[in-house]
Amino acid sequence: MKPAATSPLSPAPLLVFGAHPDDAEFGCGGIVARETRAGRRAHLVVCSRGESGSSGTPATRVAEARRAAALLGATLEFVLLDGDARLEAKPAHAMKLAAVIRRVRPGVVLAPSLAGNQHPDHPRLGRIVRDAARIARYGGVSGLRARPAHAIGSLLFYAVTPGAEPEGVLPVLVDISAPGVVAAWTAGMQAHASQLRTRDYVELQLGRARILGLSAGVMHAQALFPNDPALFDSLLPLSRSGRRGCRRAAARAPPGFFRSAPPR
Ligand SMILES: [Zn+2]
Repeated sequence: MKPAATSPLSPAPLLVFGAHPDDAEFGCGGIVARETRAGRRAHLVVCSRGESGSSGTPATRVAEARRAAALLGATLEFVLLDGDARLEAKPAHAMKLAAVIRRVRPGVVLAPSLAGNQHPDHPRLGRIVRDAARIARYGGVSGLRARPAHAIGSLLFYAVTPGAEPEGVLPVLVDISAPGVVAAWTAGMQAHASQLRTRDYVELQLGRARILGLSAGVMHAQALFPNDPALFDSLLPLSRSGRRGCRRAAARAPPGFFRSAPPR
């Protein structure tokens, strides 16, 4: 069976996988909020209930994830695999997630990065999703024939923590400075209250986005790391780059945005 091609103009949803209930919110929640506010559908798939975490019961964490997804404007489902801190990269898991991809039929898929220095479930899930995206487009896979094959547009990885940013991969920066986006993202992160008792992960992520945005000449940005080279129809999407410096952001900042003098 020939895979269904994803037109760049089709309203194909964004599909985001996370190993734990808060991964997507902390790693790429600003981008999810940006997309949903632009009218595009986003669906989050969480592959454990976070039961091995130091804080929060599984029931609490599921409830937090549901509230966070709603604040980001996304839908949410749990697809449980081996459990928190027990995830293994098994072919059966890739089949399971490939079935999700065939059902949701996304354009862009986001998954945790493959970098090694982070929670071990993150890079394992990233590899499972990469395999799942490949399997989803193979028409002859037994066990997946209930739905037609689907070729995603792009797979990109997000870094849940600064240390999870892959080396040697040029990032794609997404400007999340549009009005209301950072507020929605912040609320989505704050919904994971059980995870904020030991460290202020919200400030950590906002700080990352602020530094990245300022360095690119906008207020806030988040980075994604492509699995494959991006393909464009023209040079138009490349009319902006992240090398514009921070003076422009300083000039556009609302009064009082910078506590002291704007950056020079
Ligand atoms: Zn995690």
